[in-house]
Amino acid sequence: MKIGFIGLGHMGSAMAGNLLKAGHDVSVFNRSPGKAESLLKLGADAAADIAGACRGEVVITMLADDAALAEVAWAEDGLIASLSRGAIHLSMSTISVALSERLTQAHQQAGQRYVVATVMGRPDMAAAAKLFIFAAGDPAAIDACQPLLDALGQKTSRVGPQPSAANLVKLTGNFLQAAIIEALGEAIALIGRSGMDRRAYVELLTSTLFTAPAFRIFGPLIADGAYEPAGFAAPLGYKDILLLRTAAENLRVPMPLVSLLHDRFVRLFAQGGERLDWSAIGGLATQDAGPPRALTTSSPSPAA
Ligand code: NAP
Repeated sequence: MKIGFIGLGHMGSAMAGNLLKAGHDVSVFNRSPGKAESLLKLGADAAADIAGACRGEVVITMLADDAALAEVAWAEDGLIASLSRGAIHLSMSTISVALSERLTQAHQQAGQRYVVATVMGRPDMAAAAKLFIFAAGDPAAIDACQPLLDALGQKTSRVGPQPSAANLVKLTGNFLQAAIIEALGEAIALIGRSGMDRRAYVELLTSTLFTAPAFRIFGPLIADGAYEPAGFAAPLGYKDILLLRTAAENLRVPMPLVSLLHDRFVRLFAQGGERLDWSAIGGLATQDAGPPRALTTSSPSPAA
């Protein structure tokens, strides 16, 4: 297929590479120049601007956040102005439900089609074409995108005809991952404080009841305190907690754990953790606990 790809960050560059390897004709564009070099070697065309990436049947966006996607969508030469009638915007960034609803309307008014396909999986999974994809929108438009989704992920789950449903599902997925990071961080802090081996503990967990990828991915990172280089930067994780909190407020759903996770990110940033991987919130409990000490059965004396 002839397609465009906008946003060549950690995820986008790996994803565009897989589309090229699958034989698609891909025009790539990134705000900052220089990020397309390796893709050009794989046969990509370098689009000079956003409009240049909008000349095919589909344009994929994989951008940081709402502000980035809104800028690309409503720029003078942006998606809304440049995509031809019937062409599809395949929106894969993690963005708000509200922006997704605005895009649904704007594309509809312009006679264009809008499909959301959010992804679970870090850049290494993107590079291995092993993403889990949640797709939503008009079924015929998703069908048209399916060959692209097949080149990017190991499984596409369709979550409904309303595009923003895939944004909401994705945000809940990141909430659950952040909650696992926090819970793992507290458990590992306790084990480490007692003087037991943190890595051996994670191996024990992930070979018994806690075998899901989230435990296997984040457990070792937290046990080793290995938060750099960031696969998924902490500010992006924080963004997703804020987006989920807004979605929960709008639907009047109390989610107390979301407030706790929000404060963990603020604490991380207060000590300069912006450049770290988001799993660094799982290291905060260890900092609070202090160095290892021998296991004891005595509890702190109650205040007089
Ligand atoms: P990233 O490495 O920070 O890349 C962000 C991309 O957005 C870059 O291409 C950047 O361009 C572009 N961008 C930022 N602001 C822009 C603006 N105002 N106008 C135009 N372009 C702009 O992020 P990433 O890790 O690839 O993540 C991309 C999306 O996937 C995010 O929504 C993230 O939440 C989601 N996601 C990430 C992961 C993960 O593990 N990393 C997993 C699942 C989903 P420049 O190069 O010019 O800065």
